[in-house]
Amino acid sequence: MQSASLEAADVALFIKREDLVDAELGGNKWRKLKYNLEAAQQQKHDTLLTFGGAYSNHIYATAAAGQRYGYKTIGIIRGEQHAELNPTLQFATDCGMQLDYVDRESYRNKTSNSCINQLHKKYGRFYLLPEGGSNVLALKGCAEIIDEIDTDFDVICVACGTGATLAGLVSNLSGKQQALGFVVLKDADFISTDIKLLLQQANINPACSWQVNTSYHFGGYAKTDQALWDFMARFKKDFDIELDAVYTGKMFYGLFDLINNGYFKPGTRIVAIHTGGLQGNKGFSPQMNANKRK
Ligand SMILES: *Cc1c(COP(=O)(O)O)cnc(C)c1O
Repeated sequence: MQSASLEAADVALFIKREDLVDAELGGNKWRKLKYNLEAAQQQKHDTLLTFGGAYSNHIYATAAAGQRYGYKTIGIIRGEQHAELNPTLQFATDCGMQLDYVDRESYRNKTSNSCINQLHKKYGRFYLLPEGGSNVLALKGCAEIIDEIDTDFDVICVACGTGATLAGLVSNLSGKQQALGFVVLKDADFISTDIKLLLQQANINPACSWQVNTSYHFGGYAKTDQALWDFMARFKKDFDIELDAVYTGKMFYGLFDLINNGYFKPGTRIVAIHTGGLQGNKGFSPQMNANKRK
């Protein structure tokens, strides 16, 4: 039982269930979109354009939000078009998102002025959402997660891709609290710098301390191994909570590893955020134990 780890270490663990907020929009991607949608409305946009990989939770959420709130959506997808759409892109298409595929080289240059200008030539006027929805307005939406936590806590944990969600949380913590991010990418030492930059752009001087742990990437983004799938299955059995393999599975794996190794002082109260992302599990093989995307 994983709960035995908590007892042995004398720590309390609470899970903030962002995955349950909404069946389609649930998770941190909705938090990141919220104030961007408000800005798009104020600026009288009717189209949202954004970027993502073929299994992206952000593409999924943007497509769902567009359908619900009446925006046309365009998704610029990294990589080649496949004859058959994967479940993420099928959902996005069903929501009315128009998909456009670009090769990896062009995708890397997606934020350059010339690329954006080309996209405007092709698609006209649009509200541009960055990859992952990670911009200053995203921080404001993610900060609101803290307002909804109705218990005292010392440490808050979250999975990090770009780190924007962590930055948003950090902006709303007290000096006595601490944020701990679990990075799901390999060789991601740049994330601390990115987080600092985002905080700076948002004019936030954090009261709390924060750090990122880069030890639990499992070989890189969307890479998994049997130990991770086993952990997720045990977690489901013990707590009846499903985790995703790209983000929350790695965070909880790392968190329990730290707990088991005495990382937290006895009495520590931890809140871990379940940021959703369960749609991404459909991209792995049906047995749920394959180590690669289909
Ligand atoms: C995108 C995502 C994250 C990471 O969010 P960042 O703000 O990019 O760090 C964490 N969990 C899930 C489920 C996500 O989809």
